Amino acid sequence: MTVATELPSEDTGAPVTMLNPDFPFSYDRYLQHPAGLGSVPEELHGTEVAVVGAGLSGLVTAYELMKLGLRPVIYESDRIGGRLRTASFPSAPDVVADLGGMRFPVSGRAFYHYLDLLGLPTLAFPNPLADVTPSTVIELKGQSYYARTAADLPAFFTEVADAWKAAVNDGAAFAEMQEAIRSRDTARIKELWNALLPELDEKTFYGFIAESKSFKEAGFAHREAFGQVGFGTGGWDTDFPNSILEILRVVYTDADDGHRRIVGGAQRLPEALWNHAPSGMVHWPEGTSLSSLHGGAPRGAVARIARGADGDLLVQERWGRAAKYRAVVTTCQSWLLSTRIHTQESLFAPEMWTAIERSHYMQSSKTFVMVDRPFWKDIDPATGRDVLSMTLTDRLNRATYLLDDGPDKPALILLSYTWNDDALKWLALSAEERVELMLHSLRQIYPGVDIASHIIGQPITVSWEADPNFMGAFKANLPGHYRYQQRLFSHFKQDGLPEHQRGIFLAGDDISFTAGWAEGAVTTGLNAVWGVVQHLGGSSAPENLGPGDLLDELGPIRLD
Ligand SMILES: Cc1cc2nc3c(=O)[nH]c(=O)nc-3n(C[C@H](O)[C@H](O)[C@H](O)COP(=O)(O)OP(=O)(O)OC[C@H]3O[C@@H](n4cnc5c(N)ncnc54)[C@H](O)[C@@H]3O)c2cc1C
Repeated sequence: MTVATELPSEDTGAPVTMLNPDFPFSYDRYLQHPAGLGSVPEELHGTEVAVVGAGLSGLVTAYELMKLGLRPVIYESDRIGGRLRTASFPSAPDVVADLGGMRFPVSGRAFYHYLDLLGLPTLAFPNPLADVTPSTVIELKGQSYYARTAADLPAFFTEVADAWKAAVNDGAAFAEMQEAIRSRDTARIKELWNALLPELDEKTFYGFIAESKSFKEAGFAHREAFGQVGFGTGGWDTDFPNSILEILRVVYTDADDGHRRIVGGAQRLPEALWNHAPSGMVHWPEGTSLSSLHGGAPRGAVARIARGADGDLLVQERWGRAAKYRAVVTTCQSWLLSTRIHTQESLFAPEMWTAIERSHYMQSSKTFVMVDRPFWKDIDPATGRDVLSMTLTDRLNRATYLLDDGPDKPALILLSYTWNDDALKWLALSAEERVELMLHSLRQIYPGVDIASHIIGQPITVSWEADPNFMGAFKANLPGHYRYQQRLFSHFKQDGLPEHQRGIFLAGDDISFTAGWAEGAVTTGLNAVWGVVQHLGGSSAPENLGPGDLLDELGPIRLD
């Protein structure tokens, strides 16, 4: 369910998947194929491959390499899970807060492949106006609107929704693209996207809507409200300076819709991958898991990656230990390859370094408090309304989410989830200062509700840009960045590279075309697996061609 701007296309029965228009390769079918992800020569079974980062991408990479009979060696500077980080409240450990990824679109079929495999249960996420959200309040310019469904909102919001629908249909072939994605018509997807790309790469999100006929006619107030209330997950105006291509990738693939959360927290997925012992593996005995291969803990932070005199890649840890590998997969945010890891310059071509350094990350902050019970479900006898609702506002908080696992137990308020400028406003403040300001904002919207009196435990807050292991929340390309993304994404197919640049593979969500969505962490990990297999002299099963086998045919086009 989207806030103001539901974008239904002709429903032909088939679901929309995250079949990315830049490379519409069906990773879900590739993963499910009984022939598996290929093979490496038998004499290489047990060969070590370094994987830098134990986030989702690193764990998917390592898990699949292990299944193929290789021995992944995972390095991690912080904790298993990376940006799928779940914090719990010390006094009530069952109450958990997802500080990074928290809501996962059902269209992300490669991500759900692993969730299903590992048997992790999910629940619908209480987004604005979602079916599971009892009520939503939109508060703009001091004016508050209470809604149980979108139909309760004033006509103005329908006009905003209609203007957006018209803008993406007129300017970006939305309906045709969704139809092609539903039917997995890759030729049609490429035809539509390749025509739009050169035209839209240099346009900002804001430029796109401001130039659209529908928003021009509707006027500034509609554009402003669109930015504040947005679509799917809430206000997207902090994305206004980003390339419109980034937004189209999200809405075409329904990444902003049909969200579910992982019961017990998102970190359970990477932890489950770490601990799971797949059956029927090549080479490794039953019961082998990533955890058992590592003796229970990954190696430490990587400080240096270089090419040794014998041609192998040397990986050196922060505290000095070094090892050599024929292949290395890095999955940390790519800025870290120059800022925190001394990566030998000649391992990448200068234009690759440009692409890495020009990466643009969003800042993001979240602040959670635990409360004694989900009191927001109490009904105000005077108004007949919920006393507190999921809230979208133009105040500092921007978005407040209410999360509970049933009545009569402690529950969670995500007081504020913000991006970019809105996140920077919190950066210098302590957790308590943040909470005080957030409560102040909410008091203006809900004057009669004493939220503070329900708070128990200490607040939990995060600013991802302040963490040296991440330096930002997730990537979002600026106008003109398509060429950089194309280079980063396609690098895993290395047959055109000189020998001295081969064997190091980039993965992780900032290498994907859908940064900010865990699906991209999974799929770029699978690309890296394909690259490593080829590098070691292996291949895909002929009946289950891999991403690199189809990259030339379906891959992102090169602009001049
Ligand atoms: C605030 C926020 C909200 C998000 N919301 C959503 C959402 O709702 N839905 C969704 O699908 N996605 C969401 N995402 C994106 C999702 O969290 C990511 O796509 C995914 O977790 C990225 O996984 P990764 O493995 O690519 O990278 P990471 O998780 O960043 O993993 C990289 C790992 O490398 C480690 N590392 C760094 N430096 C070194 C070093 N020198 N040596 C060894 N290890 C190192 C890091 O500690 C980290 O563990 C969100 C992200 C953030 C930050």
